[in-house]
Amino acid sequence: MSNPIIRTEDLCKTYDNEGVQTRALCGVSFSVEKGDFVAIMGPSGSGKSTLMQILGFLDRPTGGNYFFEGTNVKNFSDDQLARIRNQKVGFVFQSFNLLPRTPVFENVQLPLLYSEAKWRKEQIRAKVEKALTEVFLEKRMNYLSNQLSGGEKQRAAIARALINQPEIIFADEPTGNLDSKSGLQIMRILQKLNDQGKTIILVTHETYTAQHAKRIIMMKDGALVGDGLVKNRRIAEQEENLK
Ligand code: ADP
Repeated sequence: MSNPIIRTEDLCKTYDNEGVQTRALCGVSFSVEKGDFVAIMGPSGSGKSTLMQILGFLDRPTGGNYFFEGTNVKNFSDDQLARIRNQKVGFVFQSFNLLPRTPVFENVQLPLLYSEAKWRKEQIRAKVEKALTEVFLEKRMNYLSNQLSGGEKQRAAIARALINQPEIIFADEPTGNLDSKSGLQIMRILQKLNDQGKTIILVTHETYTAQHAKRIIMMKDGALVGDGLVKNRRIAEQEENLK
């Protein structure tokens, strides 16, 4: 029997700004199995970011239901949601969101400082080293964030997303600010993490990037209008411009 990590039922989100209502999502129902790699595509304004924010517990829906690991998210308090966000979820953004002029080490350790477990210094160092090794960035641990290239910044951001060993990674246009070679390296890392069992949900407007996922969901006007497996999936490690 299937046991999805994510299931939504008629998910809706209407923003209300001083009485002006904008319907950003309406009637979105789908499931994601553990270990899947889903790309969400669609034109600007179609609701992709809103959906990611709800799935990543950064915002709550105004209608419908969201079940995470089988539990209706409505039943979680704000504190419980904050804990899940810290422990189960890793975020990667187009603009990296690193602390400026701050060492890579400090950036990557940040989620550990917000977790309930109290880690010793050596444990933190070992975790940061492991996460940086996953993204081939261990040699840059003591660099300041502004001394990194765009691709390296995104790899540091992925290491930060990995530090609490999340179940699921949400990546919102992670290659949007990168040249094609650096972008492909990011897709290679995401594919490697997915091969290790992490569930990945990626927003992208690039068909080429989406073809590295296992499945593509299409959004339009706040609704889900397509959902299918990727045929002839691209494997970043085998692509010519990575060599
Ligand atoms: P996408 O990520 O596909 O570009 P969004 O989820 O950002 O789409 O936006 C979907 C719709 O919701 C758009 O019409 C957008 O203008 C609107 N929207 C997004 N965020 C807000 C907000 N905070 N307040 C009001 N409207 C919003």
